[in-house]
Amino acid sequence: MPDATCPSWCDQIQCQEPLEADRVHQHLELLPVIYRDADMQPIAGPLIILVVSTKLQVTDEVWVTLELGEDQPVASLTLSLESALRLQAHLTRLLGQL
Ligand SMILES: [Zn+2]
Repeated sequence: MPDATCPSWCDQIQCQEPLEADRVHQHLELLPVIYRDADMQPIAGPLIILVVSTKLQVTDEVWVTLELGEDQPVASLTLSLESALRLQAHLTRLLGQL
């Protein structure tokens, strides 16, 4: 049953944990991408996108993690929501010129 306190982006899984300390709002999805490995070879794999709140309050911080690598992460980046939004705007502007 949806929790009325969940933000719209929450997948309502982690915030239903039995232990209160384990509860956070989060959203997890996989985006198929092609990236280069350390030897500059193209690799097809998922980009893991994880959005998570620090607690269950609407006013809590929201963090955005981007992680590459299916079995073992080869790269990981966790940004504040504000930084993720700046990255989004920057990429939109930059990629719009290509
Ligand atoms: Zn939630």
